[in-house]
This record gives sequence, C-alpha cells and structure tokens, in this order.
Amino acid sequence: MLKIGYASLKSPVAMICHGNACPPGVGLAVLEDVEERDDIEALVRDAGVPAVLSFRSASPDRLPEFSRTAARMHAILELDLSDRDSIDLTRACSLIKLIKSAGAATSLRISPAALSPKSNPGAVKSLESAGLDLIHLDLRGCDGSATSVLRSISDVRGPRIMALSEIKSFEDAKRLLSMGADAISLKESTDEEFASWISSALRKFEDITGWYNAPKHICAGGDLRGLAFCCPPVKPCPVHGALKRLGMTPDEFVRRKLELARGTPLEKGDGTCFGSLIWCCKITKPCYLRDVALRRAGLTPKEYMILKRRVAEGLLR
Ligand code: SF4
Ligand code: SF4
Repeated sequence: MLKIGYASLKSPVAMICHGNACPPGVGLAVLEDVEERDDIEALVRDAGVPAVLSFRSASPDRLPEFSRTAARMHAILELDLSDRDSIDLTRACSLIKLIKSAGAATSLRISPAALSPKSNPGAVKSLESAGLDLIHLDLRGCDGSATSVLRSISDVRGPRIMALSEIKSFEDAKRLLSMGADAISLKESTDEEFASWISSALRKFEDITGWYNAPKHICAGGDLRGLAFCCPPVKPCPVHGALKRLGMTPDEFVRRKLELARGTPLEKGDGTCFGSLIWCCKITKPCYLRDVALRRAGLTPKEYMILKRRVAEGLLR
C-alpha cells in the first residue's frame, strides 16, 4: 500500500510500541529510545511488521553500527530531534548521509516549528538530497496552525511524511492525510483496538476510493495535489495562488493537464462544465453531470480517483 525506503507497509498507520508486538493490522512499529537497548534485532523481529528504530541521542560514533543493524533488518533508522524548535541542518544532513552510506532507510522526527518552509526555506529539499526517506512530523501539543505547516511541507514534494498526532477518530486521521500526510502515527497510549480498527478502516477506504490520502480541493484549503480537481484557471480563485507556489503559469497548467488527460478516459466528458473529466471535481463532491460522464466512459468512481491521483503525480513531478 505504501513504500518508505525498502519498507512496504500494509496500512498507512504506525504506532509507537515499546518492545511489544504491534496491534494487528498496524503497518509500522515505532520503537523508541533504542540506543538504550541491547536486543535491537529481537525487538525488530517481535514487532511483526516493518519497524522504525528511533534514537534520541545516538552519537555519531555508534551511528554506523546502528545503521548497519537497521539495514540488515530492513528497519528504518530515525533521528528523533522533535524536542527542538530549530535544527542544525548541516549536521542533520551529514548524519542522514552517514546512515544512508550503511544502506539503511532514514526518518527524521521533527517539530513543525523546526521544519516550516516559511522559516526554514530549502530545509526539506536539503534533507531529501541527503537521502532522507521519511519526515516524522510531531504535531502533538500543536494548535490547528500546525496542520498548515504539514500542508506546506507536503507542497515542497520532498520525502514521505508521517504525522504523529492525537488521533481519536477516522475524521482526525483523514484530516491529516488530506493535508498531505502519507501516513499517520499513533501515540503509545492509543487503545490497541482503535489502532487495529483505524488501520483496517484506512485499508478499506483505499480499496473503495482508490486514494486513501486524497487532498481537498484547493479552494477548500487542500495541498497542491488538489490541482488534479481544479477547473481551467479562467476566473479569480485560489488556483492562481497555488500555481504561483508551484511555479507554473496558468497557460502551462492548462497545457499540462490536457497532456495528462490525452489518451485516457479523463479526456472525454461531454456534458460536464468544461467538456472533459480532467477538469472535474473530487468524487466526494456530488455532481450528476460528472457521474453521467463517468458512466458513459465506463469508469467507476474508484477508477476515476486513481486516474486523478496519477494526474496529481504528473503535475507535481
Ligand atoms: S479552479 Fe475550481 S476547484 Fe480549483 S480553486 Fe478554483 S474554484 Fe476551486
Ligand atoms: S461537471 Fe460537476 S464535477 Fe465536473 S467541473 Fe462541473 S461541477 Fe465539477
């Protein structure tokens, strides 16, 4: 369902588990403060799913050894810098390069304040260039504005993003996923039944809709992937701001979308607002005109969303 480095996740849900087996269905086990343990290999094996080995204070001297262990066990090695409001980017990049040189996948746990593209432009791309596979964004204790940092990090299109937050419902999970998170991570104190339930609910959601972390429309505050649902930019609306952020002119946007539609079932769409499904809205927005066009094109709602996902990927590539 989701790949992070060499780890294949069955569900986009991670959980912090201190050496216990993860609840059934959870896709990724986050094992914390592993530098204090001498049974790392057993911990990874007992987790029963791909694991993140999270280190708060690994010294560079021991990092190569931990990295080799992570690579051998196909675990993701995480540097936990989430207790800081700012990071030494040069040092973080050199530690990531050190981990990658041992062949391990890497994660960086970090607070939104330390990575906000507003205050730290270029940081996400520098980390990606250093080889970072996953940004584990720690949103615990943050107010609602932190999710806009999640969206702005997602808009940079760097490493995968996993959002660690207080998640108590399907709606909480969907809010983070629709702002650009690829996965969510649950606190250690999360009820195990809830962890299994949300994992299975998101797997089913992907099966039914074809895009478990589909964005909102741009005018509803969605991240740049939402451009897949935008109409031609012919009137004043938030699409223009989104295109500016992407560095694309309105003309280029129209050309790219038409190119991406060519030869696909999205090209057609007689009777819709703009004559082609490429300009049509998200499937969750009720519209009988689009639904008639989908039936005519022989597309199910799931197939439509899968095609829109490809359009988003094509636009942001
Ligand atoms: S182009 Fe359409 S969907 Fe996109 S932001 Fe404007 S009104 Fe919303
Ligand atoms: S036809 Fe319906 S789905 Fe398509 S752009 Fe118009 S309102 Fe949106």
